[in-house]
Parts: sequence; C-alpha cells; structure tokens
Amino acid sequence: MLADRRPVTASLGAYIHAPFCAKRCGYCAFNTAPWEPAAMARYVRAVMREMDLAGTVAWTPDVPVHSIFLGGGTPSLLAADDMSAILDRLRRRFRVLHDAEITVECNPESVTRVKLEAYRRAGVNRISLGVQAVDDQVLERLGRLHGAAAARAAFDAAREAGFGNVSVDLMYGLPGVERDDWRHGVETVLAWAPEHLSAYGLSLDPGSLWGASGVDGLPAEDAVVAQYWTLVSMARDHGFEHYEVSNYARPGYRSRHNLTYWRRGEYLAFGPGAAGFVADVRWANVKPVPRYCSETEAGRLPVDTCERLTDRQALAERLILGLRVADGVPASWLEERATGDGQLRTRIDWWQARGLLVFDNDRVRLTEEGYLLSDALFIDLL
Ligand code: SF4
Repeated sequence: MLADRRPVTASLGAYIHAPFCAKRCGYCAFNTAPWEPAAMARYVRAVMREMDLAGTVAWTPDVPVHSIFLGGGTPSLLAADDMSAILDRLRRRFRVLHDAEITVECNPESVTRVKLEAYRRAGVNRISLGVQAVDDQVLERLGRLHGAAAARAAFDAAREAGFGNVSVDLMYGLPGVERDDWRHGVETVLAWAPEHLSAYGLSLDPGSLWGASGVDGLPAEDAVVAQYWTLVSMARDHGFEHYEVSNYARPGYRSRHNLTYWRRGEYLAFGPGAAGFVADVRWANVKPVPRYCSETEAGRLPVDTCERLTDRQALAERLILGLRVADGVPASWLEERATGDGQLRTRIDWWQARGLLVFDNDRVRLTEEGYLLSDALFIDLL
C-alpha cells in the first residue's frame, strides 16, 4: 500500500506499537496483550519483518523520519537488546534523522537505571513515564503495578541514565481523589522538574474493564473541572506552556511526534493495531498479536483497514486536530468549513462570544476554557 503513496510532507513520524502489559489496568482500552516471553520474542521478529516489508518502497531513502514513538502496551517491557534491534532495523530501512526525537513510553516498575542507560545507547532520547498518580491506594485501585516510591525512583533513574527530556503522565477525575489530593499529586510531580507533562481526564471507554462494569466513587463533573483548573494554574506557575488540550511543556520541549499528529502530518506505523497516515490515506494494522505476527511471517504487510477521507472530512479533521494546539489554525479553514452552514456559524459566534474561541489576526484558537469544552465544538465541526 505504501508503494502507491508518496508522502506529501518533507518528513515523517513513525509510531511503533508494543502491545504487551504485565497486567491490564481497569480504565485501559488500548490494544494490549498479556506479557509472555515467547509472545514477546515472536512480536520483536514480526515488527522488524514489517519494517523490512515496508522499507522496500522506492521513496524511503528520500523522505526522512523526524520522530519515533514507541507506545503501548508497555514498551519498557522490551529488553534493551530488543529495543536496540528494533530501532536499528528502522534506521536500516528508513532514513531516520540523526537528531530525530525518539520517545519510549515507560511504566515505572519496568525500568531501572541500567536498562534506561541501554535504551539511551540505542538512541532513545525522550522518556514518557506513566505515573498517573502518586498515591499508593489510588494506584492500586487503577490496577497499576507501581507505587508512588517506584514512580519517583523511575524518574530519578531516567535522570541518572542521562535523559534530559522526561515527560510524566498524570490522570485526573479519578475515583476517590479529592481536589487537595490532586493538588498534592501535581505539586509532587512538578517538584521533580520534568520537561513535559501530560494530564488526561479519566474516561470510561466501553473497551475497558471499568467501562464494562462501572466504577464507584467518581468525582462530580464540577470537581473534575476544578482539578483541570488547578493543574492549569500550577503548571503555568512552574513555567509550563499549556500547548495542547492535555499537554504542557517547558519552552522548547513540546512533543515533536505528537505535534505531527495534531498538525495532520504524515506518519508510518508498525506493530499490532498501529495506525499510519500517508498521502491522505489512513490505515490500521490488524490488532490481535498472533494474527499480526502470522501476516508478517507470511511476508504480507499486516494492514487491516484503509480509508481515504473526502475533502470535507479532511478539512474537519485538520480543524479538529489543529484546534487542539495552542497555535490554533488559519481562520480561513474555519471560514471554509462554515460556508453554507448557518447552524455552525451560529455556534462559532456563540463560542466566540463566550470567550472559548479567539480570532487573532488570521488565526483562530481555543482558549484554556475552550479546551475544556472542545469535544462539543469538535462534534459540530464534523
Ligand atoms: S494503561 Fe498502559 S499499562 Fe495499563 S493496561 Fe493499558 S497500556 Fe497497559
């Protein structure tokens, strides 16, 4: 499929999905599989085979890769040698820039300083640490395998291993977490002085255990909103830019890889269930790990679905993704989408009057209050 589609952007991102987890968290709806050594070994061979198959395309030497993101699952369950082999294979098949941002999502219990040093030698230069909370009881309830002390130890291990670009993931709106607990958690993590912070509100996806069974003790909506504002003001006081709905960075540390998604840039994808986007075509790999492995072992790219968006869908997507970011989008895009759609124009006026959407010279962007309600606007834009 990649053979017929030459990228239109100057460079690409690359996402690698590592699906294994030692335990399934209650809120998780990602494409995961139980960790097991033989399955991991087969997966490592399969993902490198997929890179071999994709890498035969004629344009690969011409289009550089500017970022690589290993997400999961728990990519930090990969042994250092496997991490090194996977990244080497990608470099051999594609033109990875020497200064490419290379991020690995790590769970605190699965990393040590020695392992992180080896990841660094393999070329990893950014760590995204899945802390989620710093209260042992809350972490246990979430189904996480680490406690607060292990989270801190993992952060320190990343620093000792030489990582100068570490992101910490937190979750708000969690059951049993009051505003003061949340404030304490944010304060604790900010005191570690990470370069980047991602904070997601809990959502009960139907694909998760909690989505199916329900969960007690969820905070009321106004309490969740209060937690959002607490984070916004504390992050600002510590010098972070709130540069995307759920992401905060010190100047110069925005995630290059994720900005590719939000700017509707192009990216390759490897691994079970991974989704890629090149030349206006979006594809997704097969999700079940054994089937994914069988496909690549048989010498076939493991593509499951493939879609080309209509011009209208592409414009809506460009708007929705672009409005997630603090820089916003050209106002002309919104104008084009609203042409002939009186209902949408009324909604845009309402958003502007409420101070949720701001027109600034020739651009339009959401405010921090607008971020909170952005899902409603995004539905209108579809
Ligand atoms: S939240 Fe992360 S660690 Fe937990 S099951 Fe999902 S992918 Fe695995």
